[in-house]
Amino acid sequence: MYKWVYAFSEGDGSDKQLLGGKGANLCEMTQIGLNVPPGFVITTEACLHYLESGEKAVPDDLMEQVRQHMTQVEELTGKGFGNAANPLLVSVRSGSAMSMPGMMDTILNLGLNADTLQGEIRQTGDARFGYDAYRRFIQLFGKVAMDVPDEVFDAEFESVKQAAHVTEDVGLSADDLREISERFLKVFQEHTGRPFPEDPYEQLELAIKAVFGSWMGKRAVDYRREFKITPEMANGTAVNICTMVFGNRGDDSATGVAFTRNPGTGEDKLYGEYLVNAQGEDVVAGIRTPKPIHKLADEMPEMARQLDQLRDNLENHYKEVQDFEFTIERGVLYCLQTRNGKMNAVAMVRTSVEMVRSDLISREQALLRIDPAYLEQMLYPRLSPDFKGDSMAQGLPASPGAASGFVVFDADRAEVQGRDMGRPVILVREETKPEDIHGFFAAEGILTSRGGKTSHAAVVARGMGKPCVAGAEGIHVDVQRREAYVGDHMIREGDMITIDGSSGNVYLGQVPMVEPEFSDELERLLEWADDVSYLQVMANADTPPDAARALKFGARGIGLCRTERMFNAVDRLPVVIEMIVAEDAEQRESALERLLPMQRADFRGLFETMAPHPVTIRLLDPPIHEFLPTERQLLNDIEQLNHLRDSVLGMDVLAGSLLLLDGMLDDGGDRKVRPFVSIDMVEAALSKKQQMLRKVRALTEVNPMLGHRGVRLGITFPEIYRMQIRAILEAEAECAAEGLEVQPQMMVPQVCTVQELRWIKRYVDEIRAEVEAASGHKLNCRFGTMIEVVRACMRAESLAEEADFFSFGTNDLTQATFSFSREDAENKFLPMYNNSGILQDNPFEVLDTKGVGKLMEIAVQWGKKVKPDLSVGICGEHGGHPSSIAFCHSAGLHYVSCSPPRVPVARLAAAHAALKDDSWTD
Ligand code: PEP
Ligand code: MG
Repeated sequence: MYKWVYAFSEGDGSDKQLLGGKGANLCEMTQIGLNVPPGFVITTEACLHYLESGEKAVPDDLMEQVRQHMTQVEELTGKGFGNAANPLLVSVRSGSAMSMPGMMDTILNLGLNADTLQGEIRQTGDARFGYDAYRRFIQLFGKVAMDVPDEVFDAEFESVKQAAHVTEDVGLSADDLREISERFLKVFQEHTGRPFPEDPYEQLELAIKAVFGSWMGKRAVDYRREFKITPEMANGTAVNICTMVFGNRGDDSATGVAFTRNPGTGEDKLYGEYLVNAQGEDVVAGIRTPKPIHKLADEMPEMARQLDQLRDNLENHYKEVQDFEFTIERGVLYCLQTRNGKMNAVAMVRTSVEMVRSDLISREQALLRIDPAYLEQMLYPRLSPDFKGDSMAQGLPASPGAASGFVVFDADRAEVQGRDMGRPVILVREETKPEDIHGFFAAEGILTSRGGKTSHAAVVARGMGKPCVAGAEGIHVDVQRREAYVGDHMIREGDMITIDGSSGNVYLGQVPMVEPEFSDELERLLEWADDVSYLQVMANADTPPDAARALKFGARGIGLCRTERMFNAVDRLPVVIEMIVAEDAEQRESALERLLPMQRADFRGLFETMAPHPVTIRLLDPPIHEFLPTERQLLNDIEQLNHLRDSVLGMDVLAGSLLLLDGMLDDGGDRKVRPFVSIDMVEAALSKKQQMLRKVRALTEVNPMLGHRGVRLGITFPEIYRMQIRAILEAEAECAAEGLEVQPQMMVPQVCTVQELRWIKRYVDEIRAEVEAASGHKLNCRFGTMIEVVRACMRAESLAEEADFFSFGTNDLTQATFSFSREDAENKFLPMYNNSGILQDNPFEVLDTKGVGKLMEIAVQWGKKVKPDLSVGICGEHGGHPSSIAFCHSAGLHYVSCSPPRVPVARLAAAHAALKDDSWTD
């Protein structure tokens, strides 16, 4: 005889495919000795058999097996199914291998009929209880098994309530509920054309068929399609038949839900709620307010003791925090359901560490039970979970965390209001440019209406750990008028807004926040992570404060310092501009001479902060026109200056004329009307702007990102790279002179041929010899290349001959591989591509392992072939993304580098990658 039915005491708790998740769990709980009401599971195979048999018949011997198992349950409970003297009532629930909440059906109190109802009433001495159970059963059975709509039952229910003049269900008397039951029976007959089935086994068979059928019901089919649940994941539903227990049998009965530990804080203490003399659905319906679980010790001390025991048993068995349901029926505690508890990140981290300390789980298990991305919650301020307001606009979640502040529309205002006046400000721009950097420092957060997740605003904000919403295209920014529009709504400078860089939402006004916590437990957990990881985690950091923050988060070095960020500091931008607009090499050298000590001090600051860890400095990358104003802005300035010149000339004329107006002014008018600005100053300013305009026009390119930038710039304007190389090496020499052990690395961006690398290496060798001779110290600065151009991947062998290390710039490499603009794609066509499944993920966020990843694998393989000790890392934004980190691990990289606040996420992700890597086992 084929086995269709398993008692809870015999089913294999690990076989969710056969028994469904709920059924397997009921079996497991029973077998570890928890007090689960007796019952049995009908397998998913029986369901498939039913669905496949054209005439909707259950397998021939199914009901025979059900009867045998029901007899066992009768023996265990001492009750009889259909026995009017001592009736056994059961629940019938669906349950497939995958949880599909609310998708399939449940019938409670099955086994009630006119006779057993009277038996139940006699036994409990509670007619109200009996009729209440009966009317619930008729309605659920009618709806689930016979398709009688809820509304017709509800209408009868309401009409009895009205006649009884009660508003709440609890106000109904036993007679009212009897009346309701009778009306329900009539409704059933009218809608089905047959009387309500009295035979409990007939009820049961109809219920089983209904649950089987619900697997192919529209709701369930739609749900599976929506959540991509394939037959391999769940095929058919099991049916769980379980003895009913009641928490509403008087003051020695109760029902509740609890977590074995506090899911909000992780505190090692039972957490939950209960209601005395109530059923589970009363808790859900909110009819009465449940009490906190610690009160149970006062009301039912013995039950509280048993509940503590249950908590220990659950955790000792499942090795995980459990979220469970219980019922106390006349002083007997039953466990009805348990599952792994869902907790916030703080609680996950604390429970991980505490469960290791109490030897409940191993360190590896402690690491693996936490999704690395989940840690982000703990590292940034976030909106209060209680906040329920609507956002006024949405953009891309470009840099996580939330901030409130007064709107400012340009970086200078941000500086005045944010830094000088100490007001919290949000910098709102159409898009940002390097020259806005001082505004970033002063702002709490950044909001742009254009640009993607690797746009300037996003990358800079992430580096600084400030929230950023980018590409909020619903917002129209009018910088000239200092206004922005969202539909008809106008935002003025000074209005308070809140941005949530973790969701991309923008809110009007101030929203309550929760502050981040870098707890001792998190530190401990991440130390364990480092112990098992193969990948080192470094940070992308450009300033000593960023580097210090990265260290605090556990970075083992700097994998990318973008030197252009240093050029934008307020004290150097004018010198940088002077260098760029220089008409000849001599003028350029003079500006560079002033930049050299500044850069040397920058690098030294970084080396000292990170010592003895490596600091990787990238030579200048962006096209240099990015440091200059735009042509439009310059034309505007020139026009204004021309007006000013006319005005100043006019004022001069007026001053002269006033001398002729006898006695009008005691000093002849000269002092009062002669302008503060002289014509010479205006002329000088005009000439400077015109020179700049000529330069901007000369530097204009149709595709600047594919143009004169990176190493191309270093070769055509050698003075710039030579100055930076000297600054790096002299900074190292200064540290060496003080006995400080530092590990500088310099890397060249945008390289596509080995000749480029050799060209720059010649500068390095020459300047190194000079600095070593002058300082008397041997320098050990390493020399490497970024790999961010497709050709660089293809030429990895020859590049490896010259480079000590490779660093994958996957932002540009992704752009180059897809030919998608990293500035525009994310708010133009990418969302549609993702929604329609053309691309599964946003490749600027999740490393495209099939395309970009293939190029990386080839480059690693070919590079290491030539130089086995070649060190390889990644410094694009993907370096902080968990699944991309797992790929980097498997591709044989040595380090990942990401923005400082993502360092903890990356450390845990690196540990996950190592722990899940079975290629290491012998
Ligand atoms: C990259 O391209 O991945 C990179 C790190 O450089 P950037 O983002 O500065 O272009
Ligand atoms: Mg790049």
